[in-house]
Amino acid sequence: MSKVAVVTGGTRGIGRAVSIALQDAGYRVAATYCGNEEAALAFNNETAIAVYKFDVGDFAHCQKGVADIEQDLGAIDVLVNNAGITRDAMLHKMPTEHWRCVMNTNMDSLFNMCRNVIDGMRERKYGRIINISSINGQKGQAGQTNYSAAKAGVIGFTKALAQETAAKGITVNAIAPGYVATEMVKAVPQEVLDAKIIPTIPVGRLGEPEEIAHGVVFLASEKSAFITGTTLTINGGQYIA
Ligand code: NDP
Repeated sequence: MSKVAVVTGGTRGIGRAVSIALQDAGYRVAATYCGNEEAALAFNNETAIAVYKFDVGDFAHCQKGVADIEQDLGAIDVLVNNAGITRDAMLHKMPTEHWRCVMNTNMDSLFNMCRNVIDGMRERKYGRIINISSINGQKGQAGQTNYSAAKAGVIGFTKALAQETAAKGITVNAIAPGYVATEMVKAVPQEVLDAKIIPTIPVGRLGEPEEIAHGVVFLASEKSAFITGTTLTINGGQYIA
């Protein structure tokens, strides 16, 4: 029986590419989303990948979401914590709500999802958890104290959980993408991309979602059993940690 993979925020952007790459690699995939019903249904029509609507920032929603997925597809072997948001502002202008919702969706979500799959993975002595961090969690980014803190937190969480679970056959790794051509980055004005961002990327272009998905498939595989607690940087050379 093929393994089951869950990708949060798996119907758009990087998550969409990850869901498709895992399906192509033979996994039974569940892709979650939160609000964009139209994109999720179009994705399901196109790929036949099962979609589930719940808020990764809400523990009870995740508990039910995980239970629904396991009932439909079977025990979860691979969890990709990909869902994320930005709410950019300089700290001196940042509303409390922007801080809270970025921490909630990008960081609380790791606890909410991992806490609900970890017992099963421990019992079965197998699991792969891949957490999507960001270059801006590694280097910090002005205008993103909230996002940079959350994405740095993702790396700390990854290292700690990797130590807790290594003896149980569960690996936990992070991926830190650089700038990838998704709606999140398309929100940045083209002139800012051309003048300020692309010139700082040695490869000379934005990344493609599929280039992050390759990394996820690698870390999700059985053969990556000796890799845990690490952060795979995929950023075109923009920041070499
Ligand atoms: P997109 O904005 O394209 O997609 C975000 C996805 O997350 C959507 O599927 C969205 O669901 C889902 N989502 C958002 N909030 C919630 C929530 N509360 N509960 C459940 N799902 C939610 O983002 P990207 O593909 O660009 O980013 C994916 C990940 O990669 C994020 O963690 C991001 O921080 C990280 N990243 C992205 C980079 C980039 O350059 N694009 C660079 C570095 C890191 P819905 O469709 O319903 O809105």
